[in-house]
Amino acid sequence: MGIGHVAVALGASRAAPRLNVGWLVFAALLADFLLGIFAFFGLEHATVPVDYASRHYLLFDVPYSHGLLALLTWSLIFGFLASRSVGLEARRIWLVVGLVVLSHFLLDGLVHVAGLPLIGKTSPKLGLGLWNHMPLELALETAMAIVGIAVYWKLAGSSSVSRYGMSIFVLLFTAMTWSQLLVTTPPKAQQLNVSWMVAPVVLSAIACGLDRQRERGVLVGGRVSKP
Ligand SMILES: [Zn+2]
Repeated sequence: MGIGHVAVALGASRAAPRLNVGWLVFAALLADFLLGIFAFFGLEHATVPVDYASRHYLLFDVPYSHGLLALLTWSLIFGFLASRSVGLEARRIWLVVGLVVLSHFLLDGLVHVAGLPLIGKTSPKLGLGLWNHMPLELALETAMAIVGIAVYWKLAGSSSVSRYGMSIFVLLFTAMTWSQLLVTTPPKAQQLNVSWMVAPVVLSAIACGLDRQRERGVLVGGRVSKP
């Protein structure tokens, strides 16, 4: 899942308006960032199905980055780190960021075919396989993106850089997510490792920059509409 994760982050911004959205975007993509690290050390990996050209997706073995127990642990740690970044409402921010990290399990569990483990490598797996119906899956992500940007649009109030910038960002990332329908050649393992690590950092940095104007408005108070 691509833009769907970012959509959750944008929607969650309503519950933690003092926090820069960059934190939430990184939280939503944390599992993929960790997958890049674990894959680099050979602890997790993706395999290419023989009919990749028609399926357009990979099969994953990702117990430490995407397992339910693992993500619960990562959500506690990352939520804590994010809560320290903002002096006020630390508990609320810990909770919101932690839930956004955990949302990755539900969303990926909806689409993954091989499934995500609940506890460890050999435990039962959740995978509803929506990737087998790719256009439907992409339509769902697009609907999520629309809701996410609508929530953010309202939250950003008169911060036009944040409003329009984030809308363009979401539009471009939605188009990128759809582009996987056109991909028929599987990516190389090394490319995947790098993109899993780099993409969450770059996307959250862009979101962070675009959200600055709205965030400043909230912190000084009054200029930006509150939820
Ligand atoms: Zn993932």
